[in-house]
Parts: sequence; structure tokens; C-alpha cells
Amino acid sequence: MDIRRVGVIGDPVAHSLSPVFQQAAFDATGIPARYERWHTIAAELPARIAGLREADCFGANVTVPHKVAVAALVDSLSETARRIGAVNTVINQDGRLLGDNTDLYGFMRSLLTARPGVERDRILIIGAGGAARAVVAAVAEIGVAGITVANRSPERATHMLADLHVDGAEVIPLADWDLMGAIRDHSVIVNATSIGWNDDQMVLAPELLDAVDPHGLIADLTYRDTPLLVQARARGIAILDGLPMLVHQGARSFELWTGLDAPIDIMMAAAERTRET
Ligand code: NDP
Repeated sequence: MDIRRVGVIGDPVAHSLSPVFQQAAFDATGIPARYERWHTIAAELPARIAGLREADCFGANVTVPHKVAVAALVDSLSETARRIGAVNTVINQDGRLLGDNTDLYGFMRSLLTARPGVERDRILIIGAGGAARAVVAAVAEIGVAGITVANRSPERATHMLADLHVDGAEVIPLADWDLMGAIRDHSVIVNATSIGWNDDQMVLAPELLDAVDPHGLIADLTYRDTPLLVQARARGIAILDGLPMLVHQGARSFELWTGLDAPIDIMMAAAERTRET
């Protein structure tokens, strides 16, 4: 069989971990495929997506900043991609392109694994961007006890909840006073903003962490030890970083491209090894 092509489309993609754990999955399952980094600026996006229709191509993952734009360039969308309004996986089905979104699945799997019984939790989500949409859709699908969204621009959070058809969730501003009340009332807190990813900022002031339920969970979608995770761990609070979400969304993409079960343990180990280097 000829070697098949697949890759990650974004700007930038140089630091993406996807090539590492996806290639590990193709190698472990004996599928002759090469997973590449496809750095793509916005002006080149239509041509890049058109190239995915070729017979030797499985499709692609899509990352920042193209997840929304790609939705208009494929032939059809999965129900999940339509609801979230973003595509992170394109599947080439004999020249027709299906856009799907596996971020929801990735977050759901990582949360259910880290927090058995999460249905009983009230969840505070900080952020209202693309990643927060997947998180809110995931916890709504799990059917948790309550959802509150805090965002710098609260109106963006309100729009997000309306788009996702999530009823009964609360929106609060990203202000210490409001956050303090919410922290006392929620056992799982998810940072779905980019704060702490490239800087040493904290989305919650350290003193607010003292109010977090000691049996609760703090999740951060970034996949490095952000100050938020470091400080939470120092207080003995359980933490969840974004690596399991990343690997689970990638595993689901692999299954959509190949029709095979993803070798999740091999993918996770490859991602962890690379993160540590
Ligand atoms: P977006 O740009 O779509 O959204 C960014 C969010 O962060 C918004 O809610 C924005 O608030 C908020 N924000 C950014 N800067 C500030 C600031 N200085 N003060 C207050 N709020 C701020 O980004 P994404 O949703 O795509 O990504 C968010 C994070 O999630 C990134 O770090 C990304 O790497 C990570 N991610 C991880 C994944 C994984 O698999 N683990 C998957 C996808 C993303 P406002 O609305 O007010 O602008």
C-alpha cells in the first residue's frame, strides 16, 4: 500500500505534539502513513483544504487559528462540529470532506477519567473561546449538577451558551469578587483561557485558591505546569492538565480516519515523553 498523508493545519504548528503521538499510533498499528506539520497562513487555507481531497490523504487535524474558518471549506459537518461551530478534524471520504470536532470527546474522556462521579459536581468554566465551547458542550452532555461560565467579556459567554443551547447555566464576569462566590459553590474549576500558557499569569488570584474545595478538581487546558496547576497541587487539590484532552481528541481523529481502535496507551506515552523533553 502507498504511504498515506495526514497532518496538522495551523499557524503556528512547530510546537504541536500531534505529529509525535499520531505517528506513534500509525506505526503501532502498521498503517503506512506519515503525519506532517502543515504550517498554513489564512490566505493559503482554501488550497490546503482542497489538497485533502486527494486519494493518498486521510484528512487533517486543524488547530489555532483556523478551526472556525475550516467549517466553511468542507462539504459537510458532523452534528458536533455544527453545534460547537468549529472543526478540529477533517476526514477525506473518497474526495468529499467531512468536518468533525473531537475536542468535546477529548475533554469528556479526560474529565470522566480524572473525576469519576463528575455528574454530581457543579462546574465553573473560565473562558468563552473555542476551547471553552468544547468544554461547556462536554459537561452539558455529561449532565453535571450545575454550570457557571466566567469570562472577561461576559456577553461572549452568554452568546456561547445560546449557540450551544445550554439552558440554566450562569454567567459571571472575570472579577475576584464574583469568582470568590463561584469558587465556594463549585467543586470543579476549568481554566479554558490561554492565561498561563505563554506567560506566568494566573487566571485566579492565589488567595482565591484557598477557597477551593480540597476534594475538588482544578483543570487547565494548557499542557504544561502553569502557575495555576502548580499552586493548586501545592494546596493538595487534584489537578488535570490538557494533555489527556489533547491525546483523546487525537485518538478519536485517528479512529475517524482509519476505522481502527486507537492505541491510546502508546499515544499517551509518546505525548508524555515529548512534553518532558
Ligand atoms: P480563544 O482565543 O478562542 O479564547 C481565549 C479565551 O481566553 C477567551 O475566553 C478570552 O477572553 C480569554 N483570555 C485571553 N487572554 C485573556 C486575558 N489577558 N485576560 C482575561 N481573559 C483572557 O482560545 P482557545 O479557546 O482556542 O484556547 C484557549 C486555551 O486552550 C489555549 O491555551 C489552548 O492552547 C488551549 N487548548 C487546549 C486543547 C487541548 O487539547 N488540551 C484544545 C484546544 C485549546 P475574551 O472572550 O474576553 O477575549
